[in-house]
Amino acid sequence: MNKLPEDTLDPDDWPAFRQQSHRMLDDMLDYIEHIRERPVWQAAPDEIRTHFHAPLPQKEGNLAAAHAQFMHDILPYAVGNAHPGFMGWVHGGGTPVGMAAEILAAGLNANLGGRNQMPVEVERQIVRWMRELFQFPDTASGVFVTGTSMANLMSVLVARTTALGQAVRQTGLLANGHHCVAYTSAAAHGCIAQAMDLSGLGIASLRRIPTNEQHQMDLTALTAAIKADRAAGLLPFFIAGTAGTVDTGAIDDLAQIARIANTERIWFHVDGAYGALGMMSPEIAPLLEGIQLADSIAFDFHKWGQVQYDAGFLLVRDASLHMDAFAAPATYLRRETRGLAGGSPWPCDFGPDLSRGFRALKTWFTITVFGTEKMGRSMAHTCYLARYLATQVAAHSELELLAPVTLNIVCFRYHPDRTDHPNHQITAEQLDELNRDIVADLHESGIAAPSTTTIQGKAAIRAAIVNHRTMQQDIDALIAAVLHHGNIRASISRRI
Ligand SMILES: *Cc1c(COP(=O)(O)O)cnc(C)c1O
Repeated sequence: MNKLPEDTLDPDDWPAFRQQSHRMLDDMLDYIEHIRERPVWQAAPDEIRTHFHAPLPQKEGNLAAAHAQFMHDILPYAVGNAHPGFMGWVHGGGTPVGMAAEILAAGLNANLGGRNQMPVEVERQIVRWMRELFQFPDTASGVFVTGTSMANLMSVLVARTTALGQAVRQTGLLANGHHCVAYTSAAAHGCIAQAMDLSGLGIASLRRIPTNEQHQMDLTALTAAIKADRAAGLLPFFIAGTAGTVDTGAIDDLAQIARIANTERIWFHVDGAYGALGMMSPEIAPLLEGIQLADSIAFDFHKWGQVQYDAGFLLVRDASLHMDAFAAPATYLRRETRGLAGGSPWPCDFGPDLSRGFRALKTWFTITVFGTEKMGRSMAHTCYLARYLATQVAAHSELELLAPVTLNIVCFRYHPDRTDHPNHQITAEQLDELNRDIVADLHESGIAAPSTTTIQGKAAIRAAIVNHRTMQQDIDALIAAVLHHGNIRASISRRI
């Protein structure tokens, strides 16, 4: 018999590979070190996009060429969330520490589904740390997931199984006879509704409770809605409070919601996607009072925690209820008391993922290297910047604040001063369009990248200051650019 060809995917020339990979690392360190010199964002030219309509490669390529293509075609056209001028949506900036940790994790290529291995112990260390941070009991469980969208969905599933019993996993909702209803605020993130959809409970079974002037859930309306649903024979099973709404950064009165949920015997979940880690800051933590009473908390290390994407997390007060919703016996996943198949329960018992990456490592490095004090200070700093931005908005007659600033999100708009031009009053639609245009102008200028939202029917420029690299000079640049583009557009429209 002929000898089989020895085809491995490892390099033939390790020294050359080593040099090439060091160049790749250096390029990314240069990128982060000098990111300020770049535009926040620029659109990829069509010509560059066509490079990614290439046929499926059949012949062997080469690493240096692929690296060159990355530098030329990909790196300059990312969304820009690592840049200090990025203030759109709620994105973390990442750190060089997290990047270096990602290299180690990739080298190990661990599968964190389970088994008897130290990487799983690192994930458990994060679970223990999060119990401590949120003052959860030792019986609490936690698991890394992609993001808070997934963690929120899983919390709905845990609450559903708790309310209806584990039999629902066999029979499904139809056989059950209970109509489960959930509650969240009108300012909650869209993924709560999506969780109701994906879990089969239905979006119509989510009550969107109106908000007060502080953009918090109106708790009188919440109590009334629960009462009405019970009177109609429905089963209230889930309340999601929000710690840092995506629009304005408002924090629901979590302590009060906890009391209501406890009295009504309803699962109390907190969507703390970006706000929950504010527990690391002594200045922010008091605003989150009541979060420690939740049955479950969903949050992201990849937002305010600055860990590289993706690193979402679900923490559940009662590990057994958490497992009841997900753990499943399978012969090929049989647990043993010794050998590699030991160490039960495994992370795959706490969620729908079986194969999972080592998200815990970049998170462990980030928390280990910076410590919660420094991380908390960087979060508090984004809140100072938000308050500074609010004072700058107040200082300019063309700018108007549209929502109170609780944390690090500022919603405002440009409103041309038309007192000298009584015949040129601007309509509400024109004003909305003007502000959306200003934001697109800012994106294209590469100076700053806020996003837009709608606050009480008004289009708002929304600056979510999440990035630890953002400084006062970036806020000044944002204000100057809004005024510049606003004035240009307003004077054009005046001439028409
Ligand atoms: C970002 C965010 C989400 C979604 O989290 P992902 O990590 O993007 O899935 C949910 N809720 C709030 C309040 C958020 O800010």
